[in-house]
Amino acid sequence: MAVPVMGSIIVMCGLLLIGITAYLGKASNASEIVQEQRRLENAFDQGIANVLDQQRGVAWWDDAVVHIANAFDEGFVTSEFGIFLTETYRHDSILLLDAGDRPVFSFEGGEVQSEAHVRDILSQVRPVIGALRERSRGALLPRPDNFAARQSGYQQLKGMEATASWSGAILRVDGKPSIVAAITISPNTDATLLTGKPFVLLSVVSIDQLFLDNVSRDLLLPDLRLMPQLEAKGADASMPFVADDGTPLGQLVWTAAAPGQPVLDTVLPLVVSLVVAIGIFSLLVLKRLSRASRELETRAETAQRDALLDPLSGLPNRHAFSLEAEAVLAASVGETRTSVIVGYLDIDRFKDINDTLGHQMGDKLISALAHRLRSRLGETDFLARIGGDEFAIIRIDRGGSFAVDLERTIAEAIATPIDVDGVDLNVSVSLGLATMPGDGHTIDVLMRHADIALYEAKRQGRDRAVRFTQAMGQQFAERRELELALEGAIARAELELVFQPIVREDNGLIESAETLLRWAHPTKGMVSPAVFIPIAEEAGLMPSIGEWVLRTAIRQASQWPDMDLSINLSPIQFRHRDLVALILGMAGEYGVEPRRLTLEITEGLLLDSTPQTRRTLAGLREAGFKVALDDFGTGFSSLNYLTTFQFDKLKIDQCFVRNIDDGLSAQAIVQSVVQMSHALGMEVVAEGVETEGERAILRGFGCDHIQGYLVARPLAAAGFIAFAASYNAAARARTGATAMRIHPDRKSHVS
Ligand code: C2E
Ligand code: MG
Ligand code: MG
Repeated sequence: MAVPVMGSIIVMCGLLLIGITAYLGKASNASEIVQEQRRLENAFDQGIANVLDQQRGVAWWDDAVVHIANAFDEGFVTSEFGIFLTETYRHDSILLLDAGDRPVFSFEGGEVQSEAHVRDILSQVRPVIGALRERSRGALLPRPDNFAARQSGYQQLKGMEATASWSGAILRVDGKPSIVAAITISPNTDATLLTGKPFVLLSVVSIDQLFLDNVSRDLLLPDLRLMPQLEAKGADASMPFVADDGTPLGQLVWTAAAPGQPVLDTVLPLVVSLVVAIGIFSLLVLKRLSRASRELETRAETAQRDALLDPLSGLPNRHAFSLEAEAVLAASVGETRTSVIVGYLDIDRFKDINDTLGHQMGDKLISALAHRLRSRLGETDFLARIGGDEFAIIRIDRGGSFAVDLERTIAEAIATPIDVDGVDLNVSVSLGLATMPGDGHTIDVLMRHADIALYEAKRQGRDRAVRFTQAMGQQFAERRELELALEGAIARAELELVFQPIVREDNGLIESAETLLRWAHPTKGMVSPAVFIPIAEEAGLMPSIGEWVLRTAIRQASQWPDMDLSINLSPIQFRHRDLVALILGMAGEYGVEPRRLTLEITEGLLLDSTPQTRRTLAGLREAGFKVALDDFGTGFSSLNYLTTFQFDKLKIDQCFVRNIDDGLSAQAIVQSVVQMSHALGMEVVAEGVETEGERAILRGFGCDHIQGYLVARPLAAAGFIAFAASYNAAARARTGATAMRIHPDRKSHVS
């Protein structure tokens, strides 16, 4: 829910709570006042009934009929009516009227009154007399007859109903609000006493403060008083006091009980403070909430942006690339003339740059290259950084040689050195390209094919662009298949070692052999190490395979005390934390003297040599192992290595041997290599010797050892040892004495 909506709801709830509390307090006060007004009205009704009750005591009395109607007895009337009612009940005026409503007696202030005064009063109370005679209130305002209700209890009066009647009202008399009550003089036991219309007794009781005080006490209405209308304004409880003929008498005023006041005085302020407190608290919470939600929103936006951007290069990342690629491919579906090219680019030997210049410089190079590429590529080209030193490009073309253009653009982009922190770096990149529709229709396929092409570019020696071909894909698939099969080869015991004899040329004996790895693939048969070792190296399988070879070969050497063994090492094995200790450990374990083992390395290791490589090479020789430089004559054949590193042996590659009887130049090279090796203290092994002619030439040059099909092909362990025994026996038969002389330490050879 939106924060403003929540805020409004909280404010509304708060106001509602205050409103309800105030209303409850006020309503309970108001309803109490209404109650009090009713009680007050009732008090006046009761007041009238009370006066009538007091009159009834003397008016409904046989003696009264006799002494008033039948023979007027002034003394009786004065004492029983005048004095009795004024003294006992504080009636202000007493009036007796005859059957014709003429006044026959009047008593007020303790004495009988003059006729004029009587007439004056009479004129003011006429409506009450009228109501009595008519038994109807006529013009007087209606009022409940409480007196009648009280009479229902008197059995004896039942018969009087025909003659007795009464009425009462509140009127202004002599300027004062008063209760005026009139009742007939009727016999209470002997109805026959009444002969004509009955006489009437009339009392005036003024409603003065004394009267109001009594009401005030009875009804628990403090400070009840009558005030002129105008003055009563502002009183907390009041009601208009109106005479029964409609004359306003003023305003009755009192102090209301106000039961809602505690709510208004105590609860309401509490509620208000509470609401204000909650309001302020909610406001703070809402403010925070809204700030948090705003922050969340911006964070979500940045996250979304970051999710698509590579922070280092500022280029779109892999995810953005996939999105863009999918959009581009979707847009070009069905458009026959549109083609899309996907490029996969990677910095050559980036790991070395990182290792030598540090990761910080590596990062800066990536960022600088990103800028360089971005500035050279077209606006519609999409460039992304999709991994460490890997970039991807999408280019859309509607006809034209756009692939060639892309290759050229990238070649030009890196043609000049890239400045990184003041250092000019010459970098080369490899680029793999795949085109839609030819090389695939989905981005996954295109990327995979571009990646295969990149791999091929690397394989071909880096620093080039290679376009994907179906044959390349096929090859890659086969490699992948081999890679998967190779993973379990050790466990399935599909690997084995074969041994190729190496013959010492001075005595003609086989005293050593080269260990060569074989993979018996379950369906493909024997797979050449030339094929599967590069795969093992790339797939990260070489460390374990290499260890297996070392262990197996050293164990074999322990069983052949008279046969030295050469073991090939892959450059990958030199990444081992402590290769010297590993091999030394195995030699110790199987009790093989290190000097019986020759470790063959290739130029590739020296090309990329690190201080660790140098240390390991030196360490191996210090430990007593021999080290041979294998395949000399392929690759760079840098003579420099021969002086920089110390080797015990140099193995001339078979390609040199192959050419040796072709021309003099090849012979000259081999000859000088042999001479130079000897000069540097190295023995020379010629590999791949297949003919006697080759052997003769090599021997002539002073080559120390020969290895090749001429002697034997690589053989399985049992076959090899049998072969070596018979070969050596034959050799000894020819030159036995010489062997003794040359190898005095190898007594075991002399049988
Ligand atoms: P390499 O170390 O130069 O081994 C000599 C290769 O020449 C072997 O091939 C051997 O069979 C072959 N060969 C020997 N004499 C002749 C000959 O007269 N004529 C011809 N045409 N070839 C001959 P292989 O066994 O196929 O091994 C190929 C390469 O694989 C080896 O070359 C070596 O570099 C590598 N390799 C073999 N085993 C291992 C191993 O256990 N570890 C490592 N890291 N590499 C190995
Ligand atoms: Mg070798
Ligand atoms: Mg070799």
